This record gives sequence, structure tokens and C-alpha cells, in this order.
Amino acid sequence: MKVFSIIWDWICRLWFGLLPKKGIRKRVKIIEGDTPPELISCDNFVLAREDGEDWAIAFLCPCGCKDRLELVLIPEVKPHWVLKLDNADHPTLHPSVWRKTDCGAHFWVKEGRIIWCE
Ligand SMILES: [Zn+2]
Repeated sequence: MKVFSIIWDWICRLWFGLLPKKGIRKRVKIIEGDTPPELISCDNFVLAREDGEDWAIAFLCPCGCKDRLELVLIPEVKPHWVLKLDNADHPTLHPSVWRKTDCGAHFWVKEGRIIWCE
């Protein structure tokens, strides 16, 4: 599995390297269930939806550190995020994502685009 992880790593680096230049927008892949899968690809956000209710959204940190981020979408839980999808499943998240530990990335997700905070 080591070879796989090296290739994966390389694809992610390449992808993240190209992303800002090409302005590729993220899309949401919806899975049935209350938890997003452990392994997620670098090009999509994965939304866990069960019985029409959104539970959580997971994606890889867009800074390139490749940490898996998982945001809760359930209004009863604090903190939680509000997700909106447009017709093409481009995600908008509110509020911004601010990782106060690890890489410290702080960004907004708007219509599938990552908008970095200074
Ligand atoms: Zn990061």
C-alpha cells in the first residue's frame, strides 16, 4: 500500500498545485449515511446525507497539508456549518473554516472556490 500512498500524495500535490491557476471548483459528492468515509479524494467534498438530512461534510485541507477535515452540519451541534449547494453541486459553507491547530489554514468555501483569509 506504500506505493499507492506515494502516488496518491503525488496526485494531490499536482492537483493542489494546479488548482489556483485553473480555478477549478469543488463539487460535492453525496453519500448515504451519517459519516463521510475515511478516505476521500482531493477533488471533491463528500457530504454524508441520511434520510434527506445533511450530517457532515469532509474534504482534504486545501492548503496542501492533506489533513482530512470534517465539518458537522447538524444545527443542534456546536460548532456547526451551514452548507448550500448550487445547481451543479458546488458547495458554499458558512462560517469560514479556521484551523487553529496544525496548518492554521483559514478560508471560506464559496460556490466551490476556496477563498483564503489573510
Ligand atoms: Zn492544511
